[in-house]
Amino acid sequence: MYDVIVVGARCAGASTALLLARQGHKVLLIERAKFPKDTLSTLYIHQPGVARLAAWGVLDDIASTGCPPVDTVEYRVGDVRLTGSSRPVDGQRAAYAPRRYLLDRILVDAAVAAGVEFHDETTAGDLLFRDGRVVGLKCRTSGSVWTDRHARLVVGADGMRSRVADQVQAEVLDSTGPKTCAYYTYWDLPGPRMALHEAPGRWVGAVSTNDGATLVGCYFPQSDFRQMKGNATEAYLGCFREHAPELYEQVAGKGPIDRLYGTGDQQNFIRRAAGPGWALVGDAAHHKDSITARGITDAFLQAQLLADTLPGEAGNTQDLDTALRRYATAHYDLVVEGYHSTLFVADLTVTPERLAMLRAVAESAEMTGLYFSMLSGACGSDEFFSDEFVASL
Ligand SMILES: Cc1cc2nc3c(=O)[nH]c(=O)nc-3n(C[C@H](O)[C@H](O)[C@H](O)COP(=O)(O)OP(=O)(O)OC[C@H]3O[C@@H](n4cnc5c(N)ncnc54)[C@H](O)[C@@H]3O)c2cc1C
Repeated sequence: MYDVIVVGARCAGASTALLLARQGHKVLLIERAKFPKDTLSTLYIHQPGVARLAAWGVLDDIASTGCPPVDTVEYRVGDVRLTGSSRPVDGQRAAYAPRRYLLDRILVDAAVAAGVEFHDETTAGDLLFRDGRVVGLKCRTSGSVWTDRHARLVVGADGMRSRVADQVQAEVLDSTGPKTCAYYTYWDLPGPRMALHEAPGRWVGAVSTNDGATLVGCYFPQSDFRQMKGNATEAYLGCFREHAPELYEQVAGKGPIDRLYGTGDQQNFIRRAAGPGWALVGDAAHHKDSITARGITDAFLQAQLLADTLPGEAGNTQDLDTALRRYATAHYDLVVEGYHSTLFVADLTVTPERLAMLRAVAESAEMTGLYFSMLSGACGSDEFFSDEFVASL
């Protein structure tokens, strides 16, 4: 009998397991894949996510992998050029973009050090229900038979196609169809850098990661995805060359140092994040277009929210259910603004009104800092769009 079983051991699951174990819960963490393993991601962790890593005591391990701190962002759209930094969060000025096979492994190692029982190559099957609540699940390590594991709480951190969410029939509170498709690969480009180049129907982002490499990603409208399947490399290189020419010049003739990765499965939804005996964190609870690079940071914030909301000790079922109801409400409040602002960016439109607003931002170092703070999540949109700023427009 466990206090908590967490399904999925990447950024959402490993950090949830870590925090709950540190609170004294007996935690089982299971992961279908053999770890360490890479996953689709452009890797960027904003300052609020970095602040969580620092608070959990794992930031030094991540920095020591050699992935450089990035504290300045360059952003270009039309005739607007912005260069600046997000406001620090809990003293953390820099963002990081560690390779996922490093980040996820470091989090799992920290969870195990905190007392979590971890099994990779272990698949969660059907949930076990009693009197309308989840009381555990069936799981199977490769080659073995299905075994029942019981827990007071099952946490689905099993990604956007969450089987846990399906089985508890988690209500979808908000959803809309996919808006973009994304392609990226790695280049031998010296950093550190975070550069964003936006144009109507296109978005290029470049960020420094481990081993002196820079990840360059290109976003296209979802409507282009089908026709791009046969010629994604040409479309990617064409977009990179046209919209980030200064960066492209530095790599022209060299070729990428890895294959091209891509996806059109950019789902957008918010699910109810908890119910009797179950909770969802990370992409299982809430997925949005990756264009604003918020999934990892959001996963950390959700893990922290769940840990902060659950009763520290075993408590009774009533206390647990009260806490889970609070988590479900607070979870929606946590993610809803970022969800809608991401949908706006994912429309890939550059309106004259937005260009005029960005020109006004470019005139002021303070507004530039505030703009990057809003993008990182260090401040809310209400602070950026103050009455004074809106009136000045
Ligand atoms: C192209 C792209 C670029 C992105 N770029 C960024 C970025 O720059 N910054 C950012 O913050 N986010 C980015 N994201 C989003 C980010 O990668 C995700 O939000 C993040 O990985 C979610 O983590 P998670 O732990 O919730 O889920 P996942 O990373 O999906 O992990 C879920 C885990 O659960 C396991 N699992 C699933 N089912 C089972 C089962 N039945 N039993 C056991 N284990 C199971 C899976 O094997 C998997 O390891 C990007 C996403 C994409 C697609």
